[in-house]
Amino acid sequence: MGGQVKSKTPSPEQVLLGDEAVAVGAIDAGITAAYAYPGTPSTELGEYLLQHQARHGGPKASWSVNEKVAYEEALGVSMAGRRALVAMKHVGLNVAADPFMSSALITIHGGVVLVVADDPGMHSSQNEQDSRYYADFAHILCLEPANQQQAYDMTREAFDLSERFHIPVMIRLVTRLAHSRSVVRRRAGRGENGLSKLPDPAEWILLPSFARPLWHKLQVMQQEIRAYTESAPHNVQYLNPQNRALGVITTGVARNYYTENLRDLGFDISHLHIGAYPLPMGKIRNLGSRVDKILVLEEGYPYLERYLRGILPSPVEILGKVSGEVPAEGELNPDVVRKALGLEAREQLPMPDLELPVRPALLCSGCPHHDVFPALIEALSEFDKPLVPADIGCNTFGALPPYSVLESCICMGASVGTAKGAADAGYYPVVGVLGDSTFLHSGIPPLMDAIRTDADMTLLILDNETVAMTGAQPTILPSSRIEALIRGMGVDPEHFHTTEVHPRKTAELAELIRREVKHHGLSVIIARRECIESVRKKGKKKRAEDRQFKQRAEKPHAEERP
Ligand code: SF4
Repeated sequence: MGGQVKSKTPSPEQVLLGDEAVAVGAIDAGITAAYAYPGTPSTELGEYLLQHQARHGGPKASWSVNEKVAYEEALGVSMAGRRALVAMKHVGLNVAADPFMSSALITIHGGVVLVVADDPGMHSSQNEQDSRYYADFAHILCLEPANQQQAYDMTREAFDLSERFHIPVMIRLVTRLAHSRSVVRRRAGRGENGLSKLPDPAEWILLPSFARPLWHKLQVMQQEIRAYTESAPHNVQYLNPQNRALGVITTGVARNYYTENLRDLGFDISHLHIGAYPLPMGKIRNLGSRVDKILVLEEGYPYLERYLRGILPSPVEILGKVSGEVPAEGELNPDVVRKALGLEAREQLPMPDLELPVRPALLCSGCPHHDVFPALIEALSEFDKPLVPADIGCNTFGALPPYSVLESCICMGASVGTAKGAADAGYYPVVGVLGDSTFLHSGIPPLMDAIRTDADMTLLILDNETVAMTGAQPTILPSSRIEALIRGMGVDPEHFHTTEVHPRKTAELAELIRREVKHHGLSVIIARRECIESVRKKGKKKRAEDRQFKQRAEKPHAEERP
């Protein structure tokens, strides 16, 4: 036990997505394991690590049933003295918030790095929440890369910081960085930590009498953490004493949009870039003492801007999202930043006068949901104002034309609890709709509630045998086990059905739904057919494996030739 083992020599330069740069940084930082739940824009991180594991045998990488479990698994690796990465999209951190918040108090043993990919502009998310607030809330360090190289370097450093301060460290990505590519220069990898037990297990037991001194320790340590961010190379300051009129503070990728406009400004501006939090107050005050106005450019919420109002004395004017110079919603880009800097809009290339067809988000052709929603509509047609709470996933498209049958999409698993609540309120009929992976992620606990009270509702699980929306990742349990799971939870077998989805069986499915809706108590229907994308993906994988097998089989014969 103890010490580091193994080390690898990576190829020096690679073109990587921001997500992949973090994955590679974690591999080179000597992680033993990585856990994630797929969710745009963080999915590629988990995919990269899984492929790496398949090719090289490690580090261990896996999808977890949900983000909370992923986080707890990473803590387990840390408890054993080794390093773990845990990755999720921003809303996933809401699911993992319970262990995340408490893990700031325990004395992290092997380094734990949490990567959260925020989605300003909501390209594929239900909100724009800014994960920097979570880091602040938990009193931990957060590093925010501005480019792919920093994503790699900061990830490596984050593990060292986690073990130095014994706290989890957050890497905050945003969609533009996670999903764009650049050359990343790798350094020699570090080996993984040896196994070791916690020096003092009491530092992981958050009973109130133990938790109070640990919370105090975390508060005392804030000084050391702030001293680190004050001098960290990620918080870079450039001062121009000749220009008092305006200073700029950028964070993360906003620096790129600012520097792209610099040459058009025609004058030199004092500039502070922040890539490490908690905020470097000394550097901020230093900048504030040399300028009359500060423009804040940050992706996400006006997190820094709001802080500045408390850090800086009143004569310094602060411009940003709160004051209206920068839009409060959506993503930043060079043109938005240009406007905030007071520059003329750039000449735009004329748009050709094309009549492009409108392309609303749609279910794939051949999607099993195409054969379920008509059945659901038919089944509910005889009821007055049925209520259909739904969920996250491809099935959410059932809320849009041509079906327009689903009526909510809030968060993972919410359909079940919402349906139960509506039934508790006396609404009838209520049909909750969700996918199999969402059911496994967060639908099981609310179903237990519904079973306990025999809620007057029907739950329709659209089992497409995959996590479809994020690229057909495998579900945690195969479909065959979901039935046994639900039966074991105690659903009345008379009102629990599994049925195959087929275009020729739509009327049969409609009749089944209608019958179960008429039953005044809980009923559960699993409507099953594999997602067409999942079938394609498996076919592609099989063909690649067959090709490899054939090549291997032919090789010895080739070598035998003279
Ligand atoms: S990815 Fe699968 S589940 Fe999603 S719309 Fe396409 S076929 Fe349907």
